[in-house]
Amino acid sequence: MKSIEKTNYYDNKARELSFETGLVIDGKIIKSSTGEMIESVNPSTNDVITSVQKGCVADMQQAIDIAKKRFQQGVWSRLEPRKRMNIMYKWADLIEQKKETFALLDTLEMGKPIDEMLTIDVPGTLINLRYVTECIDKLEGKTTNTRDNTLHCIISQPLGVVGCITPWNYPLMMASWKVAPALAAGNSVVLKPAAYTSLSSILMGKLFLEAGGPGGVFNVVPGSGSVLGKELASSSDVAKIAFTGSTEVGKLIFRYAGESNLKKVNAELGGKSPHIVFDDVEDLEKAVKICSHMIYENQGEVCSAGSRILVHEKIYDEFNEKFKKYTEETFIPGNPLDPSTKIGPLVAKEQQQSVLGYIEAGKEEGGRLYFGGNIPKGLEQGCYVEPTLFTDVDNSMKIAQEEIFGPVAVSVKFNTRDDAINIANDTPFGLAAGLWTSNLNTAHKVAKELESGMVWVNGYMNGDMTMPWGGWKESGQGRDKSFEAVVSNTQTKSVWINYK
Ligand code: NAD
Repeated sequence: MKSIEKTNYYDNKARELSFETGLVIDGKIIKSSTGEMIESVNPSTNDVITSVQKGCVADMQQAIDIAKKRFQQGVWSRLEPRKRMNIMYKWADLIEQKKETFALLDTLEMGKPIDEMLTIDVPGTLINLRYVTECIDKLEGKTTNTRDNTLHCIISQPLGVVGCITPWNYPLMMASWKVAPALAAGNSVVLKPAAYTSLSSILMGKLFLEAGGPGGVFNVVPGSGSVLGKELASSSDVAKIAFTGSTEVGKLIFRYAGESNLKKVNAELGGKSPHIVFDDVEDLEKAVKICSHMIYENQGEVCSAGSRILVHEKIYDEFNEKFKKYTEETFIPGNPLDPSTKIGPLVAKEQQQSVLGYIEAGKEEGGRLYFGGNIPKGLEQGCYVEPTLFTDVDNSMKIAQEEIFGPVAVSVKFNTRDDAINIANDTPFGLAAGLWTSNLNTAHKVAKELESGMVWVNGYMNGDMTMPWGGWKESGQGRDKSFEAVVSNTQTKSVWINYK
């Protein structure tokens, strides 16, 4: 186990950081009207990093009102596409100039290894921002082939105010996935980040203004989900909620929408994704490695984590053995600010307790604790849990059915192709899935049969901005990334023109 020695380059940089901690409303960074604050805590030490202004209902109402007013004034919604594009490109450039700061902010607040921030989250954010910006003047309408003396145009227009509600597991990147396509399509935005992780969202809001974004078009109101998130999702002045978070809260968002103005809802929710290894896998070592990364990276706090590993009975013991060896050599819990660390702490004490509770449930249900299961020695001051694997798991067990959202994998044995498909689909979720095989028939057949928004064959979590991101079943509705994400922030209008 690594000890937390706070001496590396990023530890020193973190000590020099200053923080933006206010609400971003109407182009200003302001205090909450109640003066209440939220403590921002570093989960690797449980030390307080800083305190952030905690928005209240009146602040949220103010943000929604100004966003609506700016939309109606057309300062952004009617801005010539090229001018909107110039501002958004500049915004991306400003974020890039501060890439190290953004990496530090999310690592400090949620414990993600700094290496992941620098290689995945920050570049992913920039690619997303620039891609949706490129889409702005590619949005098109059409005319239909209809009767004489008529011009029928189908045009697309922005929705109005889009409320974005984001989780803590990829604070910056999820904010960009939600906010950027909404802005690109010409909407005004109110963002409510997760309470554990507001700092990068506030800085994003500030840089939008510095890039020339008009005040009041992109507002950020940190605070409680059950208060502010509910207010945003229940407002009849909000035309859409773009939500990423748990299935439980996602269901509430649909309810709030139904009880208010039937606003559009785009919901990217939880998962319990199957990662299937057939006995004809071409490169078992590679499959083992990718299976390990796809559950332990980001501490397993990944919606699309391959948390249910389904392995053919012929290679079951060999796979588990190799998986243990690779994981124990690679995912050694440590200081997330150390660039060599591959696994940091969970986001908070509550999450650590929840994950440890699942580990106890797994033992009680009869799963075999193959490795891990404890708080790592020497790291008790933080919210750490060892990378953990249960083998001999039946798919009906709680640890195979529920999203643990921590570094806990289950390994389930199967014997036939149909057996693998049935086990894979035996879940309320349908976000992602992966399979490893050298048989073309198996690859096509299983990919087709899996009830999942995304399927990877001989790989996992690959993709680029052209790949729509989202799930089936209780993993949500709508898609992030891709052109579809921008289009989903517009509405169509048919204009039927009669002439003589
Ligand atoms: P969460 O559902 O607890 O919170 C998400 C957001 O909703 C937060 O901003 C929170 O403050 C807010 N919220 C909480 N209660 C609310 C309410 N009653 N009304 C409105 N808003 C409310 O989720 P989390 O713990 O922050 O994130 C983890 C979850 O997110 C996991 O389930 C994970 O799978 C999911 N996730 C999904 C994707 C995806 O693309 N499908 C991506 C990342 C995370």
